[in-house]
Amino acid sequence: MVNRDYLIKAVAQDQQIRLTLSHTTASVQEAHRRHDTSATASAAMGRVLTAAFMMGSDLKGDRDTLTIRVDGGGISGPIGATVDSHGNGRALVSNPQADLPSKSPGKLAVGDLVGRDGFVEVIKDLGLKQPFIGTVPLVSGEIGEDIANYFLISEQIPSLVSLGVLVDTDLSIRSAGGLFVQALPGADDTVLEKLEQQVLEQGPISYLLDKSSSLEDVMKQIMQDIPYKVVGEQLLQFKCNCGHDRLARIMASLSSEELEEIEADVGKLEVCCNFCREVYLFSWAEIEAIQKQKP
Ligand SMILES: [Zn+2]
Repeated sequence: MVNRDYLIKAVAQDQQIRLTLSHTTASVQEAHRRHDTSATASAAMGRVLTAAFMMGSDLKGDRDTLTIRVDGGGISGPIGATVDSHGNGRALVSNPQADLPSKSPGKLAVGDLVGRDGFVEVIKDLGLKQPFIGTVPLVSGEIGEDIANYFLISEQIPSLVSLGVLVDTDLSIRSAGGLFVQALPGADDTVLEKLEQQVLEQGPISYLLDKSSSLEDVMKQIMQDIPYKVVGEQLLQFKCNCGHDRLARIMASLSSEELEEIEADVGKLEVCCNFCREVYLFSWAEIEAIQKQKP
């Protein structure tokens, strides 16, 4: 068992092949705990969060963020995850309790739950006037294939994407993580084919992580005799960017009618963050004080 959430990046074949390998068990467990997700919804949300962490590891700017939205028309409803450039990520699924029986042993029905009639959208906010938005149709709703298709269509990078979440019988997350293998122009097809074969031989990534003690060990097992070099590492954690002050400012921007409506519905001036389910309670005096500060 790997004892922390992190990812490593490696390069092979004169940097023509890029690899990213991640372990995200604690983060997916925290997302499951906060949203009280079913087994299949945990797997779907966990795969999206894992992919977001891995894609987000390429963000450069201090305040850059990357969001993945997957909407396949299935009963899970849309799934989203947002990460920043410091390895903090959060995720949500619209219908966390939605579930479907699995059709084959050891394989959750993620594609059926998510649906296939829709799109995956990647939004990169790099602090420019407009965020970069790439949208591609879903292939299978299994997330891994859909992210690979996104890389191919939207970024012209042929990629092998493996994302896995192993859910225990008590619904806790036993293991989660992912692997990207990306071929840059000039990558040798024979090396790629050999590497692909070696990845397949290792079996599902979540099982592989479950029985390994570090990502460095997993990388060794995958690469075997192909020379490579580890070029980066990043710690990962489930962490939302909400907070009392931030939500107080949002509350203060509402009209008194809207605030009264919240108080009538909930019985108090209370709001819950969609991304992490944290509940924040405000007083009228606090909100009015912020409203008075406004020019
Ligand atoms: Zn939050």
